[in-house]
Amino acid sequence: MSDKKTALVISAHSADFVWRAGGAIALHQSKGYEVTVVCLSYGERGESAKLWKQEGMTLEKVKAARQEEAENAAAALGINDIRFLDRGDYPLDLGRETLDQMVDIIREVQPKFMFSHSKWDPYNTDHMRTTDFALEARMVAQAWGHNPGQKVLGAPQLYLFEPHQTEQMEWRPNVFLDITEVWDKKWAAIQCMQGQEHLWHFYENVAENRGNHFRRNSGGQAGGRNCKYAEGFQSIFPRTVDELE
Ligand SMILES: [Zn+2]
Repeated sequence: MSDKKTALVISAHSADFVWRAGGAIALHQSKGYEVTVVCLSYGERGESAKLWKQEGMTLEKVKAARQEEAENAAAALGINDIRFLDRGDYPLDLGRETLDQMVDIIREVQPKFMFSHSKWDPYNTDHMRTTDFALEARMVAQAWGHNPGQKVLGAPQLYLFEPHQTEQMEWRPNVFLDITEVWDKKWAAIQCMQGQEHLWHFYENVAENRGNHFRRNSGGQAGGRNCKYAEGFQSIFPRTVDELE
C-alpha cells in the first residue's frame, strides 16, 4: 500500500476543482495516481445563479444539479473518488465535526500532495476559509495524539490553486504544471459546468496564459519547453532536496 500514489483536492464548492486544478487531476490520474476530490459544499447558494434564475427552483434541486455536474466533470477527468460533505455555502459551515471528518479522509487517503484555495480571497470568504481548514486538518492529521492507532500523516505539500481575479488575492504562483496533454479532458470537464458557462472561456484563457509562463520559465527563447496549456500553483511548504537544480 505504501507505494500507492495519491493526491487530495479540497474544494470549497463543487466546481472549483475543475477550473483550478482539473488539469493537475487528469494528468496525475493518467500517471497512475489515485486522486480524491472533496467538495465541502455544492456552491448551491453562491455559485449557481443561472440555476436560480429558472422557474420553480429549490435548494435541493440546485444541489442535485450541481452534484451531477461535478460527478460528470470528475468522470471527464478520469477520477471516480469524489465526495460531497454538504456543509452549506455562503457561508461554509465548518465546525469541529467536519474537521474530524476531513482528518479521517486525509489519513485514509495519505496524499503525496494536496490542493486547496488561495490564502486570501476578499470576494469569497468560503475559499480562504477552506484553505485555513485544509491547513488545520493537515496539522491535526500529523498529530500522534489524535486518534492513536490510525496511520499518522507525513508532510504532503499543499498547493494553492489559482483563484479568480488573481491579482486581488495575494496569490503568487511558484510552480507551473504543463497540462497540454490532458487539456481535452479539462475542457470536457469545464463544459460539464452548465451552470457557469460564463467562465468557460475565461479559464481557457488562464490556461493559455499560464502556458506562456511555463515556456518563459522553462527557458524561453533559449531552449524553453513548448507548452500550450498550464496551471499555476503556489506551494506553501519548503522542498527538501539533495541537489539544487
Ligand atoms: Zn468557489
